[in-house]
Amino acid sequence: MRKNLIAANWKMYKTSAEVAAFTREFLPLVAANKRDEIVLASPAIWLKELNAQLAGSNVSASAETMDFHKEGAFTGEISPVMLVDAGIRYVLIGHSERRQYFNETDDSVNQKLKAAIAYKLTPIVCIGELLSEREAGKTADVLRRQVAGALKDVSASDAATLVIAYEPVWAIGTGKTATPEMAEEAHQIVRAELAKALGQPAADATRILYGGSVKPDNVDSLMAQPDIDGALVGGASLDPKSFARIVNYLA
Ligand code: PEP
Repeated sequence: MRKNLIAANWKMYKTSAEVAAFTREFLPLVAANKRDEIVLASPAIWLKELNAQLAGSNVSASAETMDFHKEGAFTGEISPVMLVDAGIRYVLIGHSERRQYFNETDDSVNQKLKAAIAYKLTPIVCIGELLSEREAGKTADVLRRQVAGALKDVSASDAATLVIAYEPVWAIGTGKTATPEMAEEAHQIVRAELAKALGQPAADATRILYGGSVKPDNVDSLMAQPDIDGALVGGASLDPKSFARIVNYLA
């Protein structure tokens, strides 16, 4: 009942020529995939040309972040209005690197989520615990706080397109993946918190992606878990063959 979603997060990688080379090789490798929603999150500067390259395909472009204001004196930022104007339909919100290096908080994530909803962008809200929090036995508390904070004053109907990405920070870019059982346990905690905030039907309909060193050789066992509804992939999404193998995971 939940369509799985596999998203790439290219972070601050790829030139214009590299984006074009990626799409040329990648699109034919996933063209037969009708099972999943497939998304490429790219640096903002390439979004328009990426979108043009994806036209008519089964793959969509996503922003990696945005500001929550409609417009204003916020040098360097990009607004939801600009994303919509460029034909973009997805946006990552609150990635752990944004939280770590750009001071994003549960509160700013909440404001960005509300802006995404207002402009009909599909929000992919990233949450996840630090290594120190896991080691202190605080994972569930952190996930509950992040979900509740993101969803403050958001209704079930507002959240109709909401996607959550559970990304344990200790697993991002480290080569350390949560085991499928650890990820499933965290996803169940997140879904229970979604049910508290939005009601059970909305929680059951919300896709929860796993992110953190997803690779071609671990994606199949992760995707076999009942509460894992997709993946958000950094490093292994930069190469078209590797990301296509992830997108075409064995069910
Ligand atoms: C990410 O950036 O969201 C991510 C999960 O990165 P990686 O796959 O490299 O761990």
